Amino acid sequence: RQPLLQVKNLKKYYPIRKGIISRTVGYVKAVDDVSFDIYPGETMGLVGESGCGKSTTGRSLVRLEDPTEGQVLFQGKNLANISQREMRKLRTDLQIIFQDPYSSLNPRKRIGDLLAEPLLAHKLATKKDADQKVNEILEIVGLPKQYKNRYPHQFSGGQRQRIGIARALMLRPKLIICDEPVSALDVSIQAQVLNLLKDLQKELNLTYVFIAHGLGAVKYISDRITVMYLGKVMELATTKEIFEHPKHPYTEILLNAYPIPNPHQRDREQIVVEGDVPSPANPPKGCVFHTRCPFAKDVCREKVPQLTGKDHLVACHFPLETVNV
Ligand code: SF4
Ligand code: MG
Repeated sequence: RQPLLQVKNLKKYYPIRKGIISRTVGYVKAVDDVSFDIYPGETMGLVGESGCGKSTTGRSLVRLEDPTEGQVLFQGKNLANISQREMRKLRTDLQIIFQDPYSSLNPRKRIGDLLAEPLLAHKLATKKDADQKVNEILEIVGLPKQYKNRYPHQFSGGQRQRIGIARALMLRPKLIICDEPVSALDVSIQAQVLNLLKDLQKELNLTYVFIAHGLGAVKYISDRITVMYLGKVMELATTKEIFEHPKHPYTEILLNAYPIPNPHQRDREQIVVEGDVPSPANPPKGCVFHTRCPFAKDVCREKVPQLTGKDHLVACHFPLETVNV
């Protein structure tokens, strides 16, 4: 099976500038050597606390950010060096949904026009066809077609997210980056939007990257999960493996922070995390998690643990199973 998307040693560094001549005094390493593959039809969850680089990673996958180093390949093509024409085509294949769809919807435009916009901009439909397509898409996301005459402020949070999803679907994408699409919604509404995303995935054969700070929604929707911390991948495995056999101390802590009933975990000792996430402008040496890890030893402060494993990858000198026995 060929991956749809390959991320290879992706780095995104932002220069920190000081003084009147804007001298670069350092870099914020938002994404620091991240690699993973995404297969057609799967959902990859991308999890970590805010500032861990998951949004920057997501934006890099749809070329809203250009990598400082490394590559993003979509269907084998490096996004950084494809022609303008190919990029226009790719723009339709790659879409992103944001946490707050309201901020990306022009408040003075009717929903129907907002939805038709990308089709008309890419010259993919006549005005009449676009209108027909809007009706179809509204139905697909569970909104009555008369709603196209309304303005964004006339919708609830959940409805707006349905409109955000509808907008992403207008161009028939292959991959959708969902950047915390339910984090701002009530729990009851969250389930509806997650179910909608799942149904759409099946019907339209979509591939998702689902970004979240907690593991709750991610568990429900993801086939595999990538756990990030300070711009790096700590662990990557199937959702089942992450929940039943987490190997990285940070993953274990995330599991404890968002408790989900798990019979296998009942007698495991609670690991708690102390302190805040260090600044990505000045990440700890060695393992970036060592300042907060209850198992840190001398080697952790000196040597960067490499991400290793075949299907269950972990970057830790003392993966959990070794610690527990
Ligand atoms: Fe903790 Fe060391 Fe593993 Fe880092 S490498 S997570 S500090 S045990
Ligand atoms: Mg974010």
